[in-house]
Amino acid sequence: MQLWFNTSLQRKINGLLAVLLSFLFVVIIYSIYKLKLIDAEMHEVAELDVPLTEVISELEMMQLKQHLLIEQFRLKNNKIKKNLEPEEAFATQREALKYLLDRAVRVLNKSLQQHQVRFAPTEHQQILTSIEQFHQQSDSFEKSLQLALKAGSTTEQRWRQLEEQTASLDQRISAVLQHMDKLTLKASRYTDKHENEFMLVNTSLGFCAFVLGLYLTFYIMQIFRLRIGRIQAGIKNVHNAIEQGAPIENLHFNRPNHQDELSELENDLKMMVQRLSEEITNRKEIEEQLLVLATRDKLTGAFNRHKWDEQLRMELSLAERGGIFSIALLDVDYFKKVNDQFGHHIGDKVLQVLTERINQRLRKTDRLFRMGGEEFVILLPQQTADAACQMAELLREYIATLNEPELPTFTISFGVTQYCAGDDDDSILRRADQALYKAKNTGRNQVQVS
Ligand code: GH3
Ligand code: MG
Ligand code: MG
Repeated sequence: MQLWFNTSLQRKINGLLAVLLSFLFVVIIYSIYKLKLIDAEMHEVAELDVPLTEVISELEMMQLKQHLLIEQFRLKNNKIKKNLEPEEAFATQREALKYLLDRAVRVLNKSLQQHQVRFAPTEHQQILTSIEQFHQQSDSFEKSLQLALKAGSTTEQRWRQLEEQTASLDQRISAVLQHMDKLTLKASRYTDKHENEFMLVNTSLGFCAFVLGLYLTFYIMQIFRLRIGRIQAGIKNVHNAIEQGAPIENLHFNRPNHQDELSELENDLKMMVQRLSEEITNRKEIEEQLLVLATRDKLTGAFNRHKWDEQLRMELSLAERGGIFSIALLDVDYFKKVNDQFGHHIGDKVLQVLTERINQRLRKTDRLFRMGGEEFVILLPQQTADAACQMAELLREYIATLNEPELPTFTISFGVTQYCAGDDDDSILRRADQALYKAKNTGRNQVQVS
């Protein structure tokens, strides 16, 4: 059963259909069998019940006539002979009775022998025996009666004996009638019982099929509802993560120990989310790389001229609203000589080391930009020219005393200036350049302010 629940949706539905169709098949086969049986029983009952009921009513009628005849005999014995011929009448009665009982015997024998469906065989047999006994008793009674009639006159005692025999015959025939009555009643009850049984079994089977079908359907629906709910929750989480820009977590579904349509869907979804997550990570990396390429200088990693323009515009707009900032333009002294003496790649290395060392010593808010060649600028937000000069002086001294293996010593000159009201990106840079020019002209490796 557990295995069946673990199969695929298609197989579950097929299984459910197979169970219900099997039930239907059983109900149909049972119905055909039962209906045939009931039909045969009804035939049998009709063949038994109708003729026996006729026999019973005729026998009852005959009983009455018999009583009447006995009375006629009594009168004959009392010498009242006129118009009475009871012997003939009695003989006729006897023949009719014999005929009726023979009919009953035939009906009973037929019922016992011919039909496959049999009920109450002992009752049949009992009636047959009773009839047999009645015939025997009736024969002996007739003999006694003949003797009495031949004698011409019979004593009162003799008549009493005859009367007792008559009563006994009467009782016997009544017993036969009673048995027949019982049998016909049983016959009709017999089919009724089978009909009721048939209805009960069919209703029970139908109800069982209905309950089982309902239970299985609801069970399957419940399983699917739960699993689809989990899938929907997973998809919702992915949506939320995408909307919030948060990293997408891989989906985790309880691993089923079987493979059905839903687990295939879960797997596909998991793979899709994993792929999406990788794509988003890749995209972020590419965006970061693009950002670096767009804002950083390739050789040194310092911010580039483009970024400088952007940052300076921002600082200028802040300064226009009352803020201050300073810039320190720096240039490597005699850099051409470095290139000439040690080669271009050493020159490159010098620029890289210079960038790295300056960045290590800058505040978090300060930024270093490469303006081109061996010329850089440091942006110092919220700093006065004095503070910028102090910082430049520290850097100049640090670089001048730098002792890097495989690199020549070198110095740098600074031209520092602070934002002045009305400055634009050109004017402030020009002023810093003038200060740098001154530093170059007054011996290099120094800081000048303008
Ligand atoms: P000064 O003290 O007056 O600044 O003298 P200088 O030699 O540094 O001045 P100049 O402007 O004449 O020389 C700059 C040299 O820097 C020229 C150029 O070949 C070199 N240069 C520019 N960009 C690079 C670069 O990316 N790598 C290397 N290795 N050299 C560069
Ligand atoms: Mg130079
Ligand atoms: Mg230069």
